[in-house]
Amino acid sequence: MDSNNNPFIQQLPSPIREVFCSRTLNLRGIRAIGYDMDYTLVHYNVAEWERRAYEHAKQHLLLGGWPVGELQFDPQIVARGLVVDTELGNIVKANRFGYVKRAMHGTQPLDFDRQREVYSRVVVELSDRRWVFLNTLFSLSEGCLFLQLVDLFDQGKIASPLGYLGLFKLIRQVLDSTHMEGRLKAEIMADPARFVCPDPEMPLALMDQKYAGKKLMLITNSEWEYTRAMMCHAFDPYLPKGTRWLDLFDVIIVSARKPDFFLSQAPLFEVVNEEGLLRPSIHGLAPGGIFWGGNASLVESHLKLSGEEILFVGDHMWGDVKVTKNAMRWRTALILRELEDDVAALGKFSPIQSRLDALMAEKTRLEGQLTWLRLCLQRLRHRYGPPCPGSRRELEEVSESLRGRLQSLDEQLAPLAQQAGELSNPIWGPLLRAGNDKSLLARQVEGYADIYTSRVSNLLYCTPFAYLRSQHGSALSYAKPEVTQIEQAQEEA
Ligand code: IMP
Ligand code: MG
Repeated sequence: MDSNNNPFIQQLPSPIREVFCSRTLNLRGIRAIGYDMDYTLVHYNVAEWERRAYEHAKQHLLLGGWPVGELQFDPQIVARGLVVDTELGNIVKANRFGYVKRAMHGTQPLDFDRQREVYSRVVVELSDRRWVFLNTLFSLSEGCLFLQLVDLFDQGKIASPLGYLGLFKLIRQVLDSTHMEGRLKAEIMADPARFVCPDPEMPLALMDQKYAGKKLMLITNSEWEYTRAMMCHAFDPYLPKGTRWLDLFDVIIVSARKPDFFLSQAPLFEVVNEEGLLRPSIHGLAPGGIFWGGNASLVESHLKLSGEEILFVGDHMWGDVKVTKNAMRWRTALILRELEDDVAALGKFSPIQSRLDALMAEKTRLEGQLTWLRLCLQRLRHRYGPPCPGSRRELEEVSESLRGRLQSLDEQLAPLAQQAGELSNPIWGPLLRAGNDKSLLARQVEGYADIYTSRVSNLLYCTPFAYLRSQHGSALSYAKPEVTQIEQAQEEA
């Protein structure tokens, strides 16, 4: 019986849904799983959600007299994992060492020479306030608006006494109030189907975990009213009759204020009615309650668990993953929806990649010959070393022919390498790669996320009992090493 027809063999989804592992994780040893909500348990249509956030922010700016009426949200112009350079008005993609591999000033890409001039002696250090890392898909509206305001600033259409940094701070402040003030969220709650991308498999994944004996927690920065609306919409239609999303969780904490949740001893409140009225929680966390604020230490003492027994799953590189790992030593999972496009694009590209690999191998071989002939010529000129394989003229003729073949190879390589560098996103390329190396985001993923995957329901297929092994100690198993060669070719071409 072939494995496709064998009912005892689990049918796995497409490779784009794989769970990637940077640090071996035995799910059997995990006793509690905490989930973030936005862009983790509830995935949004990024273009719709971020466009509304952007439009609300734009309205704020228009009221302040800023000439932003003509601006339009462009979801492709920035990507998660890029870094804002608040000093120069740029957004850059850095590699794992912090070297800038691509950059945009305003809405225009910096050409290679300019980029080298500006950044050849600069290393992106995220601890330096000059740089702001785009941690989540919520950052896309912010990044887009920043680049567009940089254009207006350069054209002299707006004044910012603090320059690019001032512009960035203003956008931060405006988007912050957009998220907090309620009108944007009210719009989303009024028409969730427009904003939420349903994932009917997700509730089953959580039920499997619950019945496997794991305590499930929802720990979100969203307010109670919004959380209730989104969770109802995303979960209840796909749960067995009579089960509500609330029944899945042992602990529900809203307005958690991550990352401070993992760092502080903030007090815990209980939400006592549907309107969100709060009272201090005297008895701490209890099953069936809805809690507000609090901190991760309270969670640990409530569950009587710590560190390695708890897995936290979220989409925010800093607030859900890095701080959680550093402060609590919980196991961590990063949700990166964009991986689906990246893995699909790399898969589709593989025949061209093979051609590129072959051309690169040929180029390396010819270059080796050429350098050796050059050395022979040098020895001949200075009359030292072992006998040469031919006369000076012969050596020069063969070298010239090799140079011609290399030039023709470069002409074939250039368009293919360019295509490789534009996979997934024409400006920035694949998420976890930068130039011929891993991206800064990839370094963060390897350093802090034990596992990473495109969506929570991918855990359905690995089951709550899986032993997830890291692949040769390296993250990015989705991005074959050959890509390194391709991007090398692109840089050289
Ligand atoms: P979580 O991902 O479930 O923890 O929730 C994220 C919450 O933070 C959502 O309610 C977002 O609207 C909100 N949020 C995202 N970005 C910002 C911001 O820049 N300022 C304030 N709130 C934000
Ligand atoms: Mg989130």
